[in-house]
Formats: sequence, structure tokens, C-alpha cells
Amino acid sequence: MPLLDPKTLPHEFPRSFVPKAANLGEWAEVEPLFNELQTRAVTSKADLEKWLKDLGELEDVLDEEGSLRYVRMTCKTDDPEIEKAFLEFLEKISEPAKPKSFALLKKYWDCPFRSELSEKDYSLFNRSVENQLALYREKNIPLETELEKLSQQYQKLNGALTVHYDGREQTLQQMGRYLESTDRKVREESWSLTAQRRLQEKNAFEDLFDQMIKLRVQAAKNAGFDNYRDYMFRRKERFDYGPKDCEAFHESAEKTIKPLVVKFLNRRAEKMRLSVLKPWDLSVDQDGLPPLRPFEKTEKLVSGCENILRQVDPQFGNIFNQMNKLGLLDLESRVGKAPGGYNTTLSETRLPFIFMNSVGLDHDVRTLLHESGHAMHGFISRAIPFSSYRHSPMEFCEVASMSMELMADPYLNEFYSDPKEAARSTIRHLEDVITLLPWIATIDAFQHWIYTHPDHNREERSAHWVHLRNRFGGAVDWTGLEEIQASLWHRQLHIFEVPFYYIEYGIAQLGALQVWKNFRQDKKEGVRLYKQGLAVGGSQTLPDIFQSAGIRFDFSLKMIEPLMVEVEKEIERLEKIS
Ligand SMILES: [Zn+2]
Repeated sequence: MPLLDPKTLPHEFPRSFVPKAANLGEWAEVEPLFNELQTRAVTSKADLEKWLKDLGELEDVLDEEGSLRYVRMTCKTDDPEIEKAFLEFLEKISEPAKPKSFALLKKYWDCPFRSELSEKDYSLFNRSVENQLALYREKNIPLETELEKLSQQYQKLNGALTVHYDGREQTLQQMGRYLESTDRKVREESWSLTAQRRLQEKNAFEDLFDQMIKLRVQAAKNAGFDNYRDYMFRRKERFDYGPKDCEAFHESAEKTIKPLVVKFLNRRAEKMRLSVLKPWDLSVDQDGLPPLRPFEKTEKLVSGCENILRQVDPQFGNIFNQMNKLGLLDLESRVGKAPGGYNTTLSETRLPFIFMNSVGLDHDVRTLLHESGHAMHGFISRAIPFSSYRHSPMEFCEVASMSMELMADPYLNEFYSDPKEAARSTIRHLEDVITLLPWIATIDAFQHWIYTHPDHNREERSAHWVHLRNRFGGAVDWTGLEEIQASLWHRQLHIFEVPFYYIEYGIAQLGALQVWKNFRQDKKEGVRLYKQGLAVGGSQTLPDIFQSAGIRFDFSLKMIEPLMVEVEKEIERLEKIS
């Protein structure tokens, strides 16, 4: 797989301010552009609008350069040159650019012509700028760079973990396929080996995290906050909901969703004729059928997903096809690749890139459909001229991706010619959707606790984690595996790399289930509304974006219960086919 190179990509949004030949890895070439914006005379409303456009362009160009270096590093974590290029960009460009950007925001805020800009077009941008100005502290910049480096260490630590099993060295992602084995012994062995391998790094994970907490707590203090949670709610521009709403979500997860999950698990135990479910019994087919093998070769994964997307909406198929032709997909698992999957949008070319670690599982199909939803979002909102309005809040970004997974379910015959297999895959998907919600509550509640109890020690942290697992989990027997259970959060990269970025998935899943409901009622109208939501980017408030997509921004019990009923009914219908 050749490394991503922007020279091979079409540039449909040409630069008008940053010189085409500028070397973006050299501060000496980047700094004058910031200085020009800082000193430029702005003497009219038109000047100010041109100035904002140029600022947006500079930020997009630098953001793309950073993304390219990040993409290359995650595709090849074992190449020291590529790693160096990424780290150097953080230190030499991103870090010194931050105070420059901040000074420019201040210049904008103080500009007398700002009041002449239309309130309708700029009020959201102004709300964001005002918030950024209020939170900005110069002394937090080195702390943030330090945190990014620690995140990168976490990735490296994870990416290097391998075990020897089945006659060969395997990444922990590759070990995932053994959990679908119908041989319980194979599942237990492979699960234990993987868990033990992580446990060997327990202290490294804990050390990293302790360093992270310390830096984060300091950053919040520097910005004048009592705790990092409240600071992060402001940082993440959660203007439309707060910690209390998250607690309400936790409550619903415990009271309404957990009982449904327990029902799934009990049915599983019964079908598998097990008196207790162990953690390695959760991925295998509960009817004892061999694991689904949707594809062997990556080409099949790509063509199958393209066909599915095309059936949801022809435009989606076309976009995906174009991405493949442009080399914007890196899908296969390899040693030396960072874990997980993501979609990132390159800000200048405004093209999406999908990264994942596929090994031939049903889950891989779902991941690619998920990331494709993000990619469609980026693509459909790419023409929005004002760069700040091109990106939706995360809570809606995940609606884009999760809805795509749900809308794709009726077309899984692209991978499974047997309708029973397609039904099995969909049942599994819907169960996963529901099962994830209490896990989201666990991860979110854990972080609320960590950052409102910053003086905790490691033992208290583990104990609280286990307490939350009992509150939101249950029905799985961890006897004899207590040490592993207490460290289970080490594998949740969000806790390390993107703190508090997780409840978004829960809020979004509730949005996606509503999109799914619309789609099932009337496919054409459902897709139209979905695309309408994608097209507004970040030009509206969160509740308004939801409304544009034909859904409600609401995660109350009243909203959740009927969605759960719909899912349960659909599973019952599919059970009859499978
Ligand atoms: Zn996503």
C-alpha cells in the first residue's frame, strides 16, 4: 500500500492566499502567513470577510498537512522517519501556530466591522470564538503537546502488542477472529493469551494514564475551572447539554437498556447450554454455527460495500468508488499499523480517508460501512464555503456513520447469499447497538468520576471501574479473572487519547435509530432527510441539525423506550428467518 500523497489527489478548491509551493513543515515559511493576517489592514466588512476566508484557508492547509503526517504514521508505526515527521510537525508547526491563531481570533473579535456581519451567518461562529477566547491559556499549549505525545505513546504501545498463537505471531486485532470459533477451548485460550499480553503492560498503561490525568487537571486549573470535566464540557462546546444530561443517560442505560442486554445474554447462555457466560463466550455464534466469513480478499470487501452503499443511495456508491480509485482506503490489518479504524477528512482537498484493520470478519464490513458514513458526511458538506461550518459537532458526525450501518442492513446479501446468514448478521448488529449503550454509560461515568476525583489512587480507580461494570454490565461471569476485569479499560483508547469523547456515541446512536425508523417507514424520504442533515455541516446548532435530519435531539427515557421496542421487534422478526 503506497503512502498517502496529496500530489495524486484532485485539488478542487484552489488556494488563493497560501502559496502553492509553501513548505508547510518549515515554520519560517508558515509564520509570515500568520503575520500577514495579523498586520493586514481590515477597513471594511468586505475586507473582514476576505480576511476570514484567508484565515480559514491557512488553517485548512495546515490541518491537512498534520492529517497527512498522522495518516502515514498510523499506516506505518514502525518507521522512525515517518514518526519523526509527525512529531516534528507537532513541535515546529502546530505548537507555535496556536498562539498565532489565538491572536487572530482576538483580532477578529475586536474588529469594528464584526458587528456588520450578518447575525444569521456568523452567530454560531461567534459563540465558538467567544468560548475559545475565554478558555485559552498560553501556558496550556506545551501541556497539550505533551498530551499528544503521550497519546502517541499509547498507540505505539498498543500497536506493538503481539502474541504467538496458532503457529504464528499475531496482532491482538488479528486474534479477534478466534473469539468467533465454535471451539470453546480455542476461544478461552486466545482470549486469555490476549488479555494476559495486555496485563503484562498494566503498569505501562497505568503510568501513561497517571501522567495524562496530571496534565489534564493542570490544564483545567490554568483555565480557571474546578475540575477537568467541567472544563472539557466547555472545551467540547457542549452548549446544548451538560453533565446532568449525561447522568440521565447513565440512568436510562441502567434502567431501560441493561435489562434488554441481560435478556440477550440469558438467551445466549440458554442457546449455548452454558450455566454461566464467560467473557470469551460473547462473540461466537450462539447457535453454534461457524463464524460468518463475508470476504477473504480486501477487493471483495471494497466491492461489496460499494454495492451496498449504491443501493442505499446511488450517490454514496459513486463517492465510495471515487475514494477507492484515489487511494483513500487503507483497510487491511498489518503488523506495524496502529489499532482501530477511523475516517479523517483532509481539510484542503476536502477528501475523506478511511483507515482500518480488516481481517475478514463480519465486524469489518460494519466498520467500513460506519467509516463510509463519516466519509459521505465529509463529502456532502464539502462545498460549504466557510471552513468552520464544514464540520458538524461530533454528536451528529456519529449519527452519519451509525445510521449508515443501520440503513445498510437490508443489503447484506452482497456478502451473504444465504438469507439466514444476512439475518444472523443483522441480529448481531442490532444486539451490538443495544449492548454498546450501557458500555458507553460505563466509559462516560468512569471519566466523570476520574476527573471529579482527581486525587484518587490506582486501587480506587480500579475499584470504581469494577463498581461501574457491575452497575451497567452483569450476566457475565468474571470469577478468577478479576485482575483482567479491573484493567479492562486499558483497551478503550478514548479514555487515553480523546477524554470525554464517548457519550457522543450514545447520543448519536439514539439519533441513528431514529434515522433508521424514518428509513424503514419510507426509504426515499428517510435518505433525503439524512442527506439534508449531512449537508448542513456545522452551520446550525445541534438540535437544529438533528431537526434538519428529521430526528430529535433528545435522550430521555420517553425517547429511548419506543426505539428499544422497535429493535426488539425487528430482532424477533429476523429470528424467524435465521
Ligand atoms: Zn465514528
